[in-house]
Amino acid sequence: MTPRNGRKSIYDEAMETFHRAADLIGMNPRVRLELEEPDFEHIFYVTIETRDRLVPLSSQEVAQVRDVRPSSVKAADALEPLANGQFVLHRRALLESDIELRHGVINIPQKGIFRVQKGGPRKFKAYRIQHNQVRGPYKGGIRFHKDVSLDLFKTLAADMTWKTAIAEVPFGGAKGGIKIDPFNYSREEIEHLTLRYVYKFKKFMGPFLDIPAPDVGTNGEIMAYMMRQFTDGEREHHKMRGVVTGKDVRIGGSEGRLKATGQGVVYCIEEWAREHGFALKGARVTIQGFGNVGSSAAEILHGLGARIVAVNDVNGTIHRDEGVDVAALVQHVHHNAANLRRTVAGFPGAAAISKDDFWRVDADICIPAALGEEITGDVAERLRVKLVAEGANGPSTRDGDRVLAERRIDVVPDVICNAGGVTVSYYEWLQNQRLEHWTEAEVNARLSLALKKNYGIILDIARDRPQRESRAYCVGRPVDVRTAAMIVALKRIEAHYLLEGFSQ
Ligand code: NAD
Repeated sequence: MTPRNGRKSIYDEAMETFHRAADLIGMNPRVRLELEEPDFEHIFYVTIETRDRLVPLSSQEVAQVRDVRPSSVKAADALEPLANGQFVLHRRALLESDIELRHGVINIPQKGIFRVQKGGPRKFKAYRIQHNQVRGPYKGGIRFHKDVSLDLFKTLAADMTWKTAIAEVPFGGAKGGIKIDPFNYSREEIEHLTLRYVYKFKKFMGPFLDIPAPDVGTNGEIMAYMMRQFTDGEREHHKMRGVVTGKDVRIGGSEGRLKATGQGVVYCIEEWAREHGFALKGARVTIQGFGNVGSSAAEILHGLGARIVAVNDVNGTIHRDEGVDVAALVQHVHHNAANLRRTVAGFPGAAAISKDDFWRVDADICIPAALGEEITGDVAERLRVKLVAEGANGPSTRDGDRVLAERRIDVVPDVICNAGGVTVSYYEWLQNQRLEHWTEAEVNARLSLALKKNYGIILDIARDRPQRESRAYCVGRPVDVRTAAMIVALKRIEAHYLLEGFSQ
């Protein structure tokens, strides 16, 4: 793709590591072409009926409508609060209620004065990029977020191709989702949206074709909707549970999957700490993003005696030098109905600081676990840590990477650091094929072995330190750790193409 405004696309920038590694291993030119662009780029639209909403009036408008008599709504759950201050008005609000509507305005004590806005059909842009499937079915997360694009999903789908190869799971790479701010829609609307997504995409999905999983803005509940929509009415539907992973354990999910990505981040940090003779007990950690990955990593590290000294998310940043009470923070963010945006902001057990100050907090380890391109050159200049463990996908820009290397801040690259999620997704898929249920101890023992072995191979390549497992990958000179990880991926993928050959 040609540069836009003098800047390369995210995809082109991300593919620089691919080309560097491909050059180093003298990759077969045909294989290189196969991997340079995705197999398929699906862009489609999903339409749903949205519900009526109560939209708060501005103070000026309120002044003009003071005489609207207060209404009483009996069914407490009939008004569903949204993060943008609106309420979804469910029809059951009318049952046994005493309501006055004047010129479309309603006054609800303790909630406010609202204009009733009619719902109706709304269309959303949806994506699924299937990057490569030479090593197994397409595999990758589903993201519901307002800032998604073809370029972003291409990058994330390619990352999955590298990650599944590095984790040695028999999958390829894919990524997709919907351009939407899910916090501004009701649970029922999100359910309908998910069902329509699968309705449209069903012919391209399957346990041996393309297997989605949760990512930003999605979770086990959404995976359950996807599974239901895919399997409903199918004669042998129990065989199809592996069509999505990241499901609730009660419906075929794996023990340990919910925390698997955070757990994998911690296994990599433990390996790094072992190599450097660094004690995790008492270590100071900063985390960006307190969703699935960030909060799981925080809980596990806290359990190992580390201190989580600062947490940033999209709505705020908190800081406590002695370490935050992680259990209380999880409660505040994830088990608090009033916290509609699931944010750390407003946590009473720590001080609020700016995002700018977050990056300057003195710590040992920084875990970016939010979105991509957060660690820019500027941010990398400010960081006062020894290690960046990339829980998020693509958190460091090319400039950020360069500055981290210049400042000798170690990096555990995303393709190994957050590979715990897809590794346990594979275990979930295996359990689904065999209708088995493994214990969490069994899952974690396998995960630990797999991640630590492959991270070890990556470090051997980076340091040009050939050992029994890494000899076939070392390139005769030291390379940066991100390139080393890509070498592992490309060698394993190339082997498939070269051994299987190409159908014409
Ligand atoms: P999530 O939706 O559960 O949480 C996302 C978190 O990021 C939230 O705390 C949100 O407030 C924060 N965030 C969003 N935008 C931000 C911004 N601009 N600045 C600061 N914080 C911001 O998502 P998740 O599943 O925890 O995923 C987080 C990252 O990890 C993503 O990059 C995802 O691709 C990656 N990842 C997730 C999994 C998984 O199993 N869920 C696996 C591998 C990689």
